Amino acid sequence: MGTTHLTLTLLCVILFTCTHAKIGYFWHITDFHYDPLYTSQGDTRRQCRKADERGSSGHHRALGQFGDYSCDGSLALIESAARYMRTRHPENVEFVLWTGDILSSRFPGNEDDKYQAISNMTDLLRGTFTSHFVFPVLGHSDPSPSEQLTNLWMKWLPLEALQTFQNGGYYTIEQTQSKLRIVALNTNLFGARESQNVNTDKQWQWLDEVLQKATSNKEMVYIVGHAAPGSDSRVAYDAYSADANARYLNMIRKYARIIAGQFFGHLHADTFRVFYDHDRPVSWALLAPSVSPHRDPAGSSNPGLRLYKFDINTGKVLDYTQYYLDLAASNRAAIPEWQPEYNLTQYYSLHDVSAYSLHNLAEKLRFGIPLEAAMFHKYLRAYNVKRDAPDSCDGACANQHFCAITCLEHLAYRQCVEAAASALAAAGNSSPLIAPPISVTIALSPIIAKLVKFV
Ligand SMILES: [Zn+2]
Repeated sequence: MGTTHLTLTLLCVILFTCTHAKIGYFWHITDFHYDPLYTSQGDTRRQCRKADERGSSGHHRALGQFGDYSCDGSLALIESAARYMRTRHPENVEFVLWTGDILSSRFPGNEDDKYQAISNMTDLLRGTFTSHFVFPVLGHSDPSPSEQLTNLWMKWLPLEALQTFQNGGYYTIEQTQSKLRIVALNTNLFGARESQNVNTDKQWQWLDEVLQKATSNKEMVYIVGHAAPGSDSRVAYDAYSADANARYLNMIRKYARIIAGQFFGHLHADTFRVFYDHDRPVSWALLAPSVSPHRDPAGSSNPGLRLYKFDINTGKVLDYTQYYLDLAASNRAAIPEWQPEYNLTQYYSLHDVSAYSLHNLAEKLRFGIPLEAAMFHKYLRAYNVKRDAPDSCDGACANQHFCAITCLEHLAYRQCVEAAASALAAAGNSSPLIAPPISVTIALSPIIAKLVKFV
């Protein structure tokens, strides 16, 4: 009798531990664009700098204590973000992803000044996450990998990672507690300017080897980088060269089964990408909004921070909470009021965080589906981190979003945008999305439906 009892209890314990996910959290923070020269006495016409006495340029509006939508990240803003992060789930946070563009691209300092500014940001994060590892990657406004940078981040990275980081800015981290591997990429090497860099080829080779090895070790992988592949016509250039873009997409298709998530920043916007193998959604990338309120070359959003919830054993991403700072309200109140903005699965009514679910969500964002216009507005609101966009998003604009999310091949993206533009022109519709006339919508639907074939 006693033995049966014991066996049953043991069985229950085993079943319980097998079926119940061990929940953990990790932060994704990106694009601080820290500007050490930001001052509330600055002038937006002078890159948020204080006018010098001689060249004083007359009347201008005062800037906020925590920053301005036209300016890069102020120290007060970034410090407030760090303070807020320290108060959320401190006991369950496993690690922090920090995806680059640490410094303002407007910062005029020399290499030493830049290093000092990055060092200050590193100290701030070290003080915030005293017992956690922060995994940094480089953005296009950051210095190239160097011994100095490697020394700065030595406490966060193991020896093997430090070696590849110092040479090429990329590394991989094996988690001791789980079968989850983090692969941190230097996406600067995917840009057209770096195609001749010897480290570009090395990184490709290394990436293939790491993913191959992860496959045989039955590990799951997070890919982390600054810029995502694909296109976005609201930025002037593609972050990856055509060759690198195609190569990256092939890599994802090849290893889709072990890739549990891809995490990027760079666009200063809250959006996502779906990767297809023929017509089948096989992987996803989530793009976190910036801490900096400014979006280059023009535009803005509220500062954002993102906390992911995941299964520690499998790496499966379960959800995230997006936090934000209403910058205008915080400046008025003279208090930085960080608060939750939304939860991914609740906000979009997602069944789970998977390529299929995000594909279905993307389908709802396609222009031409009148019932889903509300969903598109929700998406747009999140995209701008709850900052009301000053200009409305018309049909062509809405379609660019859909194409950017679903067509990651450069050519497919252009075809997707052009097909929709000519469909809109034929229908004579360039009005804002808010209420497309039903007749136009119905006329558009078959044409738009074809777009999905491009993926
Ligand atoms: Zn940036």
